[in-house]
Amino acid sequence: MAEERLQKFLAGAGIASRRKAEALISAGRVRVNQRTVTELGTKVDPGRDLVTVDGALVSQPEQRSYYLLYKPSGCVTTASDPQGRPTAMEYLRGVPGRPFPVGRLDYDAEGALLLTDDGELANRLAHPRYGHQRVYLVKVKGDPPAEALERMKAGVRLEDGPARALEVAVHEHADRNVWIRVVVGEGRFHLVKRLCEAVGLQVQRLFRPEFGGIGVGGLRPGRFRRLEPEEVRALR
Ligand code: URA
Repeated sequence: MAEERLQKFLAGAGIASRRKAEALISAGRVRVNQRTVTELGTKVDPGRDLVTVDGALVSQPEQRSYYLLYKPSGCVTTASDPQGRPTAMEYLRGVPGRPFPVGRLDYDAEGALLLTDDGELANRLAHPRYGHQRVYLVKVKGDPPAEALERMKAGVRLEDGPARALEVAVHEHADRNVWIRVVVGEGRFHLVKRLCEAVGLQVQRLFRPEFGGIGVGGLRPGRFRRLEPEEVRALR
């Protein structure tokens, strides 16, 4: 496994921010293979070195895998599909670990999809209690009345209970259609489409540029990258 700077390793393990990790090292509270290390440039191999802070072993999240895939439309996010359609996991074939999608993104939707084999984190991310935000750009037919967007924010009643968007705004006009930006704090089945339909908007495309603060950035559809340790820490 590749070596990395001790403070980066500690930050990635969720011990503290990088700056605070540096302070811990300087204060002599960090040991590597039972030797106190105060040198900030020290490199560690997460797969080999034993790192402790105040005597407690630091867990090694590098043993788990965390990826961001730009899911293209035309694939499912379940492990297998009775209809034999392609799955998002096929894009990550051959990567270490057994990453599994966090939540769902519809077959015809595209954008940020996190995949991990860290079941605990996946559960937290899926749970509405933690309020991880999902940002969507939705292409709707025609020019949506301001009142419809307001109703999405005020809340509507869906068949499985009340639901609302945290933010809704017009994003961009596209010919005779409009992209709206919708932010929600939970991952209920077809939530964004159902919110739109409930206020009379016809959804034509659904793109999720960002999940839990992690965006697709410069990725192209079908491409993926590993999450940085800091990104994993911020998701916790
Ligand atoms: N809301 C939907 O309607 N579909 C998705 O894929 C995600 C959120």
